[in-house]
Amino acid sequence: MSLRILVVEDDRDIRALMQASLSVEGFEVQTAVSLSEAQALVQHARPDVVLLDLGLPDGDGLTLVQHIRQRQALPIIVVSARHQEAQKVRLLDAGADDYLTKPFSVGELLARIRVALRHRGTALAAAVTVHELDDLHVDLTTREVRSKGELLHLTPTEFKLLARLVRSAGRVVTHRQLLTDVWGLEFTEHTHYLRLYMGQLRAKIEVDPAEPRHLLTETGVGYRLAVV
Ligand code: CA
Repeated sequence: MSLRILVVEDDRDIRALMQASLSVEGFEVQTAVSLSEAQALVQHARPDVVLLDLGLPDGDGLTLVQHIRQRQALPIIVVSARHQEAQKVRLLDAGADDYLTKPFSVGELLARIRVALRHRGTALAAAVTVHELDDLHVDLTTREVRSKGELLHLTPTEFKLLARLVRSAGRVVTHRQLLTDVWGLEFTEHTHYLRLYMGQLRAKIEVDPAEPRHLLTETGVGYRLAVV
């Protein structure tokens, strides 16, 4: 059975383009033009992934994200315009899995869908503890980190930060999520911690810390560990 994707998008051209390109890839595509229609389809058509446009005629995508999160682990990818940064971050913090900024390529769209589905898979199966990301090897159990086979020495905080990104490999993790999970709830405004520790991690992990290949900055949103 092919995977079902729900495209929530009120722009007819973008909707048609997404439907066509996803159908070609073998997905079964459902579309909704409003939040209320999306809410009904999530309940009755049981999609495997939701692509949620941020500018919809009948309200805030946050309602839909919360509605879905109360019921199921269904991956949600937010599709936003560049100026919708704050709204996008709010949805990610509320439990959306990732985002794409318009205009995007079909290749990017498919990559995000693959990552979202893989994370849903690993959440259901036994937890994966050893991660191989190109030349980077991270063992979450033994806390061993290697780059090109060479053992790296990370501080406990550097390891916690890397481990948090590894658990969401390929997906964006917001500043708030990282600060909460690594430092604690009372540190959600301390984004300078992140800049500092990300700099240290890059210096240890990246071949060229100024041109990172693993630890990517998502401007105004957070960080993403690249899956190669
Ligand atoms: Ca729209």
